[in-house]
Amino acid sequence: MDNKLIYEFSSQKTDGDASLSNLLGGKGANLAEMSKLGIQVPPGFTITTEACNYFSKNKKLPDGLKEEIINYVSNLESLSQKSFGNSESPLLLSVRSGGMISMPGMMDSILNIGLNDDNVQNLAKAFNDERFALDSYRRLIQMYSNVVLGVEVDRFEAVIANKKRMDNVTSDADFNVDQLDWIINAYKNTVERFTNSPFPQDPHEQLVGAIEAVFSSWQNKRAITYRKINNIPDSLGTGATIQTMVFGNLNDKSGTGVAFTRNPSNGSKELYGEYLINAQGEDVVAGIRTPHPIKNDDSVEQESLESKFPNAYKEIKEIASKLESHFKEVQDLEFTIENEKVYLLQTRKAKRTAQASIKIAIDLHNEGIALNASPGAAVGEIVFDADKAEKEANRGRDVILVRDETSPEDIHGMHSSVGILTTKGGMTSHAAVVARGMGKPCVVGAEGLTIDVENKTIGNGERVLTEGDIISIDGSLGEVYIGELETEPPRPSDEFNTLMDWCSEYKRLAVRANAETVLDTEKSLEFGAEGIGLCRTEHMFFEGERIIPMREMIMSESQQGRKRALKKLIDFQIADFESLFLLLKEKPITVRLLDPPMHEFLPKSDIEMTELGNAIGVSPSYIREMLVKLSESNPMLGHRGVRLGLSYPEIYEMQVEAILRAAYNIQKKDGVLVTPEIMIPLVMNAKELHQMKNLLIKKISKEQKKLDYKFEYTIGTMIELPSAALNSGSIAEHADFFSFGTNDLTQTTLGLSRDDASKFLTKYVENNIFSQDPFVSIDKKTVGKAVEISVNDGRQSNKDLKIGVCGEHAGEAESIHFFNTLEIDYISCSPFRIPTAKLAAAQAEIIQSN
Ligand code: PEP
Ligand code: MG
Repeated sequence: MDNKLIYEFSSQKTDGDASLSNLLGGKGANLAEMSKLGIQVPPGFTITTEACNYFSKNKKLPDGLKEEIINYVSNLESLSQKSFGNSESPLLLSVRSGGMISMPGMMDSILNIGLNDDNVQNLAKAFNDERFALDSYRRLIQMYSNVVLGVEVDRFEAVIANKKRMDNVTSDADFNVDQLDWIINAYKNTVERFTNSPFPQDPHEQLVGAIEAVFSSWQNKRAITYRKINNIPDSLGTGATIQTMVFGNLNDKSGTGVAFTRNPSNGSKELYGEYLINAQGEDVVAGIRTPHPIKNDDSVEQESLESKFPNAYKEIKEIASKLESHFKEVQDLEFTIENEKVYLLQTRKAKRTAQASIKIAIDLHNEGIALNASPGAAVGEIVFDADKAEKEANRGRDVILVRDETSPEDIHGMHSSVGILTTKGGMTSHAAVVARGMGKPCVVGAEGLTIDVENKTIGNGERVLTEGDIISIDGSLGEVYIGELETEPPRPSDEFNTLMDWCSEYKRLAVRANAETVLDTEKSLEFGAEGIGLCRTEHMFFEGERIIPMREMIMSESQQGRKRALKKLIDFQIADFESLFLLLKEKPITVRLLDPPMHEFLPKSDIEMTELGNAIGVSPSYIREMLVKLSESNPMLGHRGVRLGLSYPEIYEMQVEAILRAAYNIQKKDGVLVTPEIMIPLVMNAKELHQMKNLLIKKISKEQKKLDYKFEYTIGTMIELPSAALNSGSIAEHADFFSFGTNDLTQTTLGLSRDDASKFLTKYVENNIFSQDPFVSIDKKTVGKAVEISVNDGRQSNKDLKIGVCGEHAGEAESIHFFNTLEIDYISCSPFRIPTAKLAAAQAEIIQSN
């Protein structure tokens, strides 16, 4: 490979910076940036993501890279005045992974590389501490053998547990020199037994093995899952950063920790984080020991960094503030203190809760720095392992994953759970960081609880719960409750409202809601909806007293019978529309006439059939007969939408009459002028729409005459069939507006059933047939293309055409970025997606207008 594959960083020479994160990974790029800023960073170098991609493809490192690595290690030897190998002052290195987009804990890192049987005593002499040297060697053997040689961690943990039992030792930190010696020997025997070769003694062999393992970890199962969940392209690759070791496990004047420049749970401006005395980095993140707070905290017993090492605390605080101002973003730092001296090992954009994100964005803006989830509660059944969590969630159960600590292998289970509970670890442990990024409630370090993994129970000394029992967790308070507690949806904060105002200022697309109930309409307005873009009237027929006359209407075999039943329904419809119109005031509302096939409204169970029979005076066998008569092999492509309207015009006529009456009543009673947008679903060509529209206009004229009132209204259509998209020019001659039903348009364009395709679509995404589920994010080349053709042709034949999108894609950020490139006026999504939709619409417009 001709490209530069290694970039170095040190106080003397740094040839990368933060802008190279695609090549060096976020970690490597930011270490270079920090070195340039004069922050104390142990020197090192980063091998690029291109080398990783080469390795993934060819299963070997690029030619010449090993030699280059040796040269760069020589530089580190000169800089540190130590030597990599068997010297009096051995240089030890770490190899860490890091892609362009942070994937916390998903890939591998290895510390203390360079130690062997010959130089471990030299390290002891150099630091005047034999215990520390042996502990570092023990850690290297365990980590290296696990990550590079594939020996299971349990094998080493068994050795430790065995020794503790033999010598009556309670904590790892209490092992003395002799005991550590014994453990190292036992570790080496374990490695030899499981790999058939001795633990590698050559430091360069260790280094190359570690680099290859880091590159391989880009393709491990948990990294692949994480990328799928977070839509991170597989092609990015990881960088490998080789860095001079500093030792947080040297003595009691040393330690390691993680700090956030602001509180990642609630966004408040404070240095927030945790540290462990006499420990190495992985100890904090792994959640094995419960860390101490960085800042004084009366509610916590352990001594804070602020009081134990006030100078180091002050220094970290200053660095934090410098980094936040420099990157114009909240940072998540990893630091090590060696003999009271502070070193930075990483800085990256901090994962935070949704609530914190908003507060931080507003605060940063107000502080003039820049503008560039979640606590909360969950109720679910206890499960004790990630696979089970995934399985139960796929069966539709709400589960809470309960573990002593989570590890990156649990990522799929965490994704499937509604909440996470761990008995160990702190606010920066893997569980906390990943849960926060996923927006899942999480309680960590619940030390009063004990898990019995074998028997699958959890108890607090008084009560014992088993798998499947229901618990509630409160991630904000860190509380766990037995049973099901009522949860409450979060209320918008002042910061949230400010952010929404900013979005409204920048976005071009109007954002409406898909809503047909009072509750949903209120919620939508609270979130800033600018109207209703889709009122699915069929949802208004399912409730309580309406369903019986609706079924009666369907059962009627004559127009007269249907009209009789519709008369019973019209008052419900009028009242429903009145309450929506009143809430919306002058804001627009698109009311869609009945869409689904009739049989969807019919009773399914015997009890329902008997009930209906009694109510309308027919026998259950007659109802069964009707069910068979009405059933279709392909209902999604059957007698629905406008086809139903043309077959039974009295249904749509009743609905139009109800819309007009409600508008009339509201105008007379409350002085609100409603201009309803009447929408005809599932149209495929102009003639179909034209005929249906004429029927409606006749009905409207009749009503106008009856009431002696001139209505303001528009009539438009859904575009949700490829045929409609391709006929848009002629359809637009008869339509005041188009609304893209991209759910059905995806179904009909791709020939994928929207109700069944999820069974195999996950596999399709895994196998890269689709990069994302096309029902979630619009397939731009096909469905997107159909939308584009339709918008262009529609606009050309009717320049006043109003155009919206009301399929689920209207609430998904990437699709919204696409819609913003077309001449579309508004998007309409479910109430809870409105804030995201507004934010995406604003971001899309800012990006596209720059
Ligand atoms: C659509 O098809 O995209 C749409 C909004 O209609 P429904 O989901 O009701 O079929
Ligand atoms: Mg549809």
